[in-house]
Amino acid sequence: MSKVAIITGGSRGIGEAMTLKLGEMGFNVVINYRSESSKKLSDDLSEKLAKEYGVESIVVKADVSKYADCEKLVKASVDRFGSKIDVLINNAGITNNCNFIDLTEEAYTNVINTNLMSFLHMCHLALPYMVDLEEGSSIINTSSIGGLMGVANQGDYCAAKAGVIGLTRALALEFASRKVKVNAIAPGMIMTDMLRGVNQDELKALATTIPMGYIGDISDIAGCMEYIIKASYLTGQVISPNGGVIMP
Ligand code: NAP
Repeated sequence: MSKVAIITGGSRGIGEAMTLKLGEMGFNVVINYRSESSKKLSDDLSEKLAKEYGVESIVVKADVSKYADCEKLVKASVDRFGSKIDVLINNAGITNNCNFIDLTEEAYTNVINTNLMSFLHMCHLALPYMVDLEEGSSIINTSSIGGLMGVANQGDYCAAKAGVIGLTRALALEFASRKVKVNAIAPGMIMTDMLRGVNQDELKALATTIPMGYIGDISDIAGCMEYIIKASYLTGQVISPNGGVIMP
């Protein structure tokens, strides 16, 4: 039986690279998107997966900050690919990049709901289809170096990403005996739309603070995801591809 992976926010940025890597690894993929502008990107990716890797995929619109939408996403996977989920990649995320006093309650609630609550929702809904599979299963949560250190103007983001690490460790412990590995990736600065919004001079200055001297690429994170999926004795860990910015 073919293996199935669900990825949230799978159409662009780090998610796009992970979606393609999942296809290359032979998974049938459930590609989630939220914004209308990402529908075509998702459809194109789905076509590419079939053409280049011969795997099946479905594209599902869902706002994963909402439990009901997460239910729809997991149901779509089960309806199409059956009642097992081999891999869950919680990747969807947003940032406000705003000083804490000016941040509105609505804006920080949105970051917490998107970057943390969605991970709880997806784990809660997917785990019943992931436990006790013969070959085991794997959850990978995208955290951030912001979950491991303080970053100014990112209080809500850092709180969510640190929460993701707590969730990862707790679920890893709880589900280790039921053959579910739960790990987190905590990327450093990676060139995606999330960073493209930042002033270019600021970006150049930021790059000089990275010991390896450059901002990472989405392929660095997809490669890390592949390693984690293949690593049989790895659970409850936070792997941080960050160019040497922090060494936790
Ligand atoms: P990105 O290019 O801005 O992409 C964000 C993705 O999240 C998009 O696919 C977006 O989907 C999806 N998304 C946002 N809100 C959603 C929601 N409510 N429901 C469903 N999907 C939603 O960002 P990225 O850099 O690839 O970030 C991916 C992950 O890596 C995030 O968790 C981010 O926090 C983390 N990260 C990024 C960096 C970095 O430097 N880039 C560093 C550390 C951690 P739509 O396009 O459909 O809206």
